[in-house]
Amino acid sequence: MKKKEFKSESKRLLDLMINSIYTNKDIFLRELISNASDAIDKIYYRSLTDKKVKIKKENLEINVNFDETLRTITVSDNGCGMTGVELENNLGTIAKSGSLAFKELNDVKNKDIDIIGQFGVGFYSAFMVSDEITVISKSIDEDVAHRWNSKGLDGYTIEECEKTSVGTDIILHIKEDTDEETYSDYLKEFKLKDLIKKYSDYIRYPIKMEVTHNHLKEKKKDDDKDEYETVKEIETINSMIPIWKKNKKEVKDEEYNHYYSDTYYDYEAPLKVISTKVEGVVSYNGLLFIPSHAPYDFYTKEYEKGLSLYSNGVLIMEKCSELLPDYFSFVKGVIDTEDVSLNISREMLQKTKSVNLIAKNIETKIIKELTDMLENDREKYIKFFKVFGTNIKFGIYNNYGVDKEKLQDLIMFTSSKTKELITLKEYIKNMKENQTDIYYASGESIDKIDNLPQIEQVKEKDYEILYLTDYVDEFTLNALVEYDKKKFKNVSSADLELDEDKEKIEKLNEDNKDMLSLMKDEIKVNEVRFTNKLKNHPVCFSSKGNISLEMEKVINAMPGDESINAEVVLEINENHPIADKIKDLYKNDKETLKKYSKVLYSEARLIEGLTIDNPTEISNIICDLISK
Ligand code: ADP
Repeated sequence: MKKKEFKSESKRLLDLMINSIYTNKDIFLRELISNASDAIDKIYYRSLTDKKVKIKKENLEINVNFDETLRTITVSDNGCGMTGVELENNLGTIAKSGSLAFKELNDVKNKDIDIIGQFGVGFYSAFMVSDEITVISKSIDEDVAHRWNSKGLDGYTIEECEKTSVGTDIILHIKEDTDEETYSDYLKEFKLKDLIKKYSDYIRYPIKMEVTHNHLKEKKKDDDKDEYETVKEIETINSMIPIWKKNKKEVKDEEYNHYYSDTYYDYEAPLKVISTKVEGVVSYNGLLFIPSHAPYDFYTKEYEKGLSLYSNGVLIMEKCSELLPDYFSFVKGVIDTEDVSLNISREMLQKTKSVNLIAKNIETKIIKELTDMLENDREKYIKFFKVFGTNIKFGIYNNYGVDKEKLQDLIMFTSSKTKELITLKEYIKNMKENQTDIYYASGESIDKIDNLPQIEQVKEKDYEILYLTDYVDEFTLNALVEYDKKKFKNVSSADLELDEDKEKIEKLNEDNKDMLSLMKDEIKVNEVRFTNKLKNHPVCFSSKGNISLEMEKVINAMPGDESINAEVVLEINENHPIADKIKDLYKNDKETLKKYSKVLYSEARLIEGLTIDNPTEISNIICDLISK
């Protein structure tokens, strides 16, 4: 019989499997069992619509057999089976989901197998423990059965064979033991039982295996000694109850974590598991997970939010987006309810009252759990916030702020005092007695903000400042408008009035009106004026109105034609020697004053992290001035 070659991708994956760089070989059984379970799902759903497919639901099962002398493990199912062509297509090339994810990751990370191993690697993983695999399968769509056989990299064969019932047998020939690896362990009853329990407990069909028990022999006479006999019995090993229906007290963290990593292909345990059971107007079991890191495709257009929706244990929809608000799009999980009918359409879902009610409940539940985490496990919360905080801040800003009240206590910003993240509530608690506003400053990084001239004066008053470094931050605070009746105040806003000497400065600006106006005409600002809010720095920018310079930067950096200009004021420190210098120039040398205006303006731009429009001109001017 002619051997066929594996497709190249498959060959690579196979190579990795055979040389088993990945250490957790145990997962091979889980992969085969879930394939078997999928195949049973398929035949079951077919039977619902196709009268010709006759099955008895109670007979659907998976069998695991092993033979220590022949060194074989057989995983059998009475699922849909595969036709000859399907065997060729499915087992000769990398198929879908799990294996695909593996492939992508493999491309990126090359040899980072430990992570890869956490993905579903599918059928090929069986080559980690086998040196030969035979698949005997009969499809519901074909009268003949087929045998697929492969000893690994050199290819596979397919031929017709005998098999009476529809379904698939996967026969693994287990490798011989080596110095490093005792493959024979897999041929032990306790090991297989353990693997089924550990990885496949929630499979919905019985996974049956022959197990050995020691029974007390029946006594012929009362005074006979106790005698035991060894009995072999076929038993269902898995509990079959979906994990979300189990009582949370009886489920170990480990079990939740396994379920999570198997289902969502995440190598890291979830940050938080939320198990919830609600009975009332709507009844449901929910199992939600907050991942420890952003899902790999989270920032792509392909990412779909949603929870899997089950109706009494039967999956209705993989990703029901109606169940989650956008700001919790990172949450993964399952909702199982009897209150939604099996054949509900996607369009109907939105209008279904029970779905809306469940969605509301879930939202409240997630907020409550996050609040608890913030209060009782701050370190964990901060880890969460660093990953998903932006999402929540967006939630406040989106939809004209309708959700802001629900979310405002979940956001955090860096404090100027501790350089740690604090909540708005904590800010209010720390406020000085005479303080009326909540101060914030925005910039690219904590260090850059710390060096802004504008914050000196606020710090001098010992007021705390929230450092805004995320591009969405200022929009979020704008949407909030106020918190606990305290207004948010940008330290760079032109109307920041911390100093009592307002009249004095107004007079100074009035007296120098013409000079300031001449300076303004030289540069691109809305106003030039003296200020007493700077301590050591000569100049800074401030902005009038709702759009700050930071917001201008963000909006203008966004794709699209929209551009926006903040109303910028160039402020000059009245106590800096530069103040006298420009007054002097105004009297004696207006041309040089014009040059000074450009240099001061450029300085302020640099401090803000902005570029200079005309660097050559400015450097020539500077050269001119310093060589005078
Ligand atoms: P994946 O399960 O990620 O799709 P696999 O390599 O494990 O990748 O399997 C490839 C395909 O082979 C499956 O998608 C399925 O169509 C088919 N298959 C595997 N095992 C069985 C089985 N026991 N019964 C029917 N089809 C199967």
